[in-house]
Amino acid sequence: MFMRCRTTPTIASKRLAAPRRVRWTRRAAAFGPCLAAAALLIACGSRSQGADPPPSPAATRSPTTAAAFAARSPSPPTTAPTPALTPSPSPPWIPGTPWPGRVNMPILMYHHINNVTPASALDASLTTNDAEFSKQLAYLRCAGHTSVTLQQLFDGIYTGAPLPSKPVVLTFDDGYSDAFTDAFPLLQKYGFGGSFSIVTGFVGQPGYVTWDQIKQMAGSQMEMMSHTVNHADLNRSPDAVVRNELVTSKRALEEALGKPIPFLVYPSGEPFFRGTAQRQQQVVAMVREAGYSGALAVKNALSLDPSAPYAVSRIRVSGGVDLRKFAENMGGPLPETVGC
Ligand SMILES: [Zn+2]
Repeated sequence: MFMRCRTTPTIASKRLAAPRRVRWTRRAAAFGPCLAAAALLIACGSRSQGADPPPSPAATRSPTTAAAFAARSPSPPTTAPTPALTPSPSPPWIPGTPWPGRVNMPILMYHHINNVTPASALDASLTTNDAEFSKQLAYLRCAGHTSVTLQQLFDGIYTGAPLPSKPVVLTFDDGYSDAFTDAFPLLQKYGFGGSFSIVTGFVGQPGYVTWDQIKQMAGSQMEMMSHTVNHADLNRSPDAVVRNELVTSKRALEEALGKPIPFLVYPSGEPFFRGTAQRQQQVVAMVREAGYSGALAVKNALSLDPSAPYAVSRIRVSGGVDLRKFAENMGGPLPETVGC
């Protein structure tokens, strides 16, 4: 798909949000959006509008998986990633109570799922082909993971609602047409749900899902999230534009689906790559005021801070990633250790 880029090019820099004390209600939530990279500037002009480029090497591995685990574990980290770590929930969490602190939760981020030959290195990094995706889903199932929606995850974290022993959230950015033609049927085949972020202004355009497809997926246990109207750069856009992007996209999805849309995915992860701490706070305030319970950023980390529901981390799944690396990145057991 070669389309003109309608969004302001974004660049990955690396300024993570300072955890901000936010007040959340019963349904607090939050997670992060797409990763962006310097390459994005170039890429945006030659690929699908809305695509979030892969992060630069420096931006990719913020806290490493091992570091994330180390932050959670009272025991000293080992030199090599421990394969049998259980992401969550695990002690000391007590079911029925809000999560007491950080939790390591794999929230995976995909873009394209299809068998189209990538036209560029960027395309390749953003595209997981059907066979790779099937292998990853088969591994997740074999290793005992259960997909949950962001809503279920937030309910578990903030109200103590029951969660499966190895929850994973599978997110798909931008609402490409292959979300419906490839990701959706494969998720169903393997018994998983998915959370799809939709750029409402792109719906129905060539290469993007239609409203009917969105309704069909939403009616089949798939979760829909806002990704703004125009894949706007929330770091650089004027506040009035930001507010409109947040409110209008949320309303469009809610009117189409007849249910609340409590989650936002920040386009290209902004303002959590390039934005100042002050700008991040401003945008988070606008996201909260727009009625969202949480928002997804891209920090490539498992660690989820319950005090920051509007800056939730995700882990990018790059096209062509080895299954063993995929497992390691998400904190799961290595395939060979569990016979998967
Ligand atoms: Zn995006």
